[in-house]
Amino acid sequence: MISNLGTKCIHEGWKPSEGEARQLPIYQSTTFKYDSSNTMGQLFDLEREGYFYTRLQNPTNDAVAAKICALEGGVAAMLTSSGQAANFYAIFNICEAGDHFIASSSIYGGTYNLFGVTMKKMGIECTFVDQSLPIEELEKYFKPNTKAVFGETITNPTVTVFDFDKFSKLAHKHGVPLIVDNTFATPVNCRPFEWGADIVTHSTTKYMDGHGVGVGGCIVDSGNFDWMAHAEKFPGLTTPDDSYHGIIYAEKFGKGAYITKATAQLMRDLGSIQAPQNAFYLNLGLETLHLRMNQHCKNALAVARFLKNSDKVEWVHYADLEGDAYSDLAKKYLPNGTCGVLAFGVKGGREASIKFMDNLKLASISTHVADSKTCLLHPASHTHRQLTEEQLIEAGITPDLIRLSVGIENVDDLIADLEQALAKIN
Ligand SMILES: *Cc1c(COP(=O)(O)O)cnc(C)c1O
Repeated sequence: MISNLGTKCIHEGWKPSEGEARQLPIYQSTTFKYDSSNTMGQLFDLEREGYFYTRLQNPTNDAVAAKICALEGGVAAMLTSSGQAANFYAIFNICEAGDHFIASSSIYGGTYNLFGVTMKKMGIECTFVDQSLPIEELEKYFKPNTKAVFGETITNPTVTVFDFDKFSKLAHKHGVPLIVDNTFATPVNCRPFEWGADIVTHSTTKYMDGHGVGVGGCIVDSGNFDWMAHAEKFPGLTTPDDSYHGIIYAEKFGKGAYITKATAQLMRDLGSIQAPQNAFYLNLGLETLHLRMNQHCKNALAVARFLKNSDKVEWVHYADLEGDAYSDLAKKYLPNGTCGVLAFGVKGGREASIKFMDNLKLASISTHVADSKTCLLHPASHTHRQLTEEQLIEAGITPDLIRLSVGIENVDDLIADLEQALAKIN
């Protein structure tokens, strides 16, 4: 029986029948062969399920998407070429020029730029909100053309925890879906659908892959949002699509409408699909996700406690740490642990931070985060260097913030490394 999450990590998705490959095959093929012209025609009309061109769909990808879908408890999912593509598609599938959506300001820097700069050029407006505001204040940001609310379960890099209850109430009261980027928590530690989110996105590049080998993304739909009940807001799903003989996605595909539309329109036209080879690597990562997340959390908690007790350290943010500002939300939504990423500041600000980082021997300075090897970065001089001082503060990033991604090495070695590097700053 596949009832537990750890078993799903291994057995969901590819389910070989008698005599088939035990491991997921890589369908390294751009196209798929048919004997009948009529069958091919039906595929193009979305009258039949099947594969015809890897720009839209590929069996290797679909098996991996099905695994992530099962882990999240969704009804349909698709892989994308990156986490950026996943978040872009997730919004663009229901927003067009002239529309508006609301996003927490505490989100990944790349998403912040995508929403605030690039999508703005497409005529889609995003209002960033302080996620700690009470619901009555947040409501003031809704407009008649607001189409979605977006947040991150655990933010990259400030490691705050999203209040699902508050934001799902807010979104649903205004007849729009709640979209949540669940990259840092992974479904092992949090399943946003259980807390009212409608659509989940992932940068699979992080813990899901886990070994830093392939960039990728995923979108999962819970099937819970009733598009027809808010038909006037979502014409793309509730009115005929002329490019497919006038089908209406929400009518024809029911709970599968959102992902079918994203595949049939966005993948067809924009083609940000994950390479099947990368999907294969992702699947290998997923097979150990439950074991690795557990180890990341254990290590990160021990490291957070060590840093907290160090006289060289000014502050530590890690939601599993006793007394952390987000500890209550973490206990509620992520009772088994949050993730391996934590943020802290060393005494002496920017200069001391850089000296500390340059003296590390085991932990490496890297833009990457959330994989088996411990790494760290200084957002104000790396990932977020394009933001103004004001935007940095709005995103909760102080000049001394160091993002530490604790890997799955032996934790004593990690602490010894941090200790010797901290000793080098005066
Ligand atoms: C890395 C990341 C992204 C972007 O994903 P890519 O795979 O790098 O495109 C989006 N959201 C979060 C939370 C991330 O950490």
